[in-house]
Amino acid sequence: MNKLITSSPPATSMYDTVVNQLSQTMESLGMAPDMRRILAVTNNEIIVHFPVKMDDGRIEIFKGYRVQHNNILGPYKGGLRYHPTLEINDAKALAMWMTWKTSLAGLPYGGAKGGIQIDPRKYSIGELERITRRYTFALGDNIGPDLDIPAPDVNTNEQTMAWIADTYMSTKSPLERSNFKHVVTGKPVGCGGLAGRDRATGFGVYLCLKLLFKSWGEELAGKRFIVQGFGNVGYWASHFLIRDGARLVGVQDAHATLVNEQGIEVEDLLEHSKPRLNSIKGFEGAQEIDSENFFSLDCDILIPAALGNQITAANASSIKANIIAEGANGPTDKEGEKLLLARNAVIIPDILCNSGGVIGSYFEWLQNRNGEIWSIDEVMQKIEKKISTAFTDVQGVAKEKNIDYRTAAYFLALTRIETAYKHRGIFP
Ligand code: NAD
Repeated sequence: MNKLITSSPPATSMYDTVVNQLSQTMESLGMAPDMRRILAVTNNEIIVHFPVKMDDGRIEIFKGYRVQHNNILGPYKGGLRYHPTLEINDAKALAMWMTWKTSLAGLPYGGAKGGIQIDPRKYSIGELERITRRYTFALGDNIGPDLDIPAPDVNTNEQTMAWIADTYMSTKSPLERSNFKHVVTGKPVGCGGLAGRDRATGFGVYLCLKLLFKSWGEELAGKRFIVQGFGNVGYWASHFLIRDGARLVGVQDAHATLVNEQGIEVEDLLEHSKPRLNSIKGFEGAQEIDSENFFSLDCDILIPAALGNQITAANASSIKANIIAEGANGPTDKEGEKLLLARNAVIIPDILCNSGGVIGSYFEWLQNRNGEIWSIDEVMQKIEKKISTAFTDVQGVAKEKNIDYRTAAYFLALTRIETAYKHRGIFP
């Protein structure tokens, strides 16, 4: 197995970043201090430890998380991540971002996140299935289609979701089992999944960029972009951008950093990586460079689509791109953002830029609830409509208040949440 690229430890944690973003926005926009106190904490933090039998007969103990941040707007919603460095504070930060994201997209959901602290590459498929099923069993009724609805995230996919749905449904009485299919979204199309859910997040990233250029009277054709992370989000964003004539000139994953000024053939790269446990290393259609040189590559657009806190004070000044489209959650820390904004770079914030995924999830959930099946064209149109509305709203507020896109997105998301609290009040 190739050695993983381990980026230098971030100066701040994702949790620091999200709490900082919350306080700054609330302060700068004069929002009620009570709201800050409510939203700065998570409603529930669930930690489970569970045993699983390995292929060689050994028993290993695993640690899993599910953090439910806020549900004033509806059931908790958010992905599950399998990663060796996953900590409770990461899950808390990611859950908070989900609350803002679902609110900004106008969805009837709150925010949650979770996962298991493992390196999935170290386990066989059979082991991963048993780990996933035991984790689901350990969570029990802390998740549910009207309570908390997980989805895929880093290192989890539609297969993971199918195992979760099957395990959860198996614990219910036979009479009602099929009513619980939508306990997770991001399932395979053959078992209740949504046509197009696989590409929804990357499509949203592409759409935000297209709308941004359109608002400037420009097109995507001819624009040069680089992508960090060649997984679900990185691949699909690249796929759609290239379809509109943009050129992928640099790509980095956990194993290698590749460049080609003439453009990297994204479908060939996908074919190369699939049989190599999704590693892009050794691709012949590009040249490999040192990973430290990735962010300083010459380009128009940078798409971080891997992990959090990748853009920091250590590398932000070397970034050449004028547009940063945050496919990943929390890829830019506070200091990195300051440096980028100081030179008038545009950051399309994660809670807007990667919201295509949760919007797709919402349509899958609705489809399951109503017993309907939609065509991929219908789905993509629905996603496009919702993202376009959110993008236009954020751009409008940014212009009107003369603020950056992240602050505008937070303003809209937090205002919706504040309004719900005003109507409902605090029990008792
Ligand atoms: P994925 O597991 O499919 O892909 C992750 C990619 O990041 C892989 O190519 C991996 O090699 C790369 N990577 C990991 N560590 C790296 C490192 N240190 N340096 C460079 N590359 C590294 O995950 P994904 O689903 O594409 O998610 C990527 C990001 O997008 C995450 O931040 C996730 O939270 C966010 N996101 C995903 C979705 C979704 O629908 N999948 C939705 C919203 C946000």
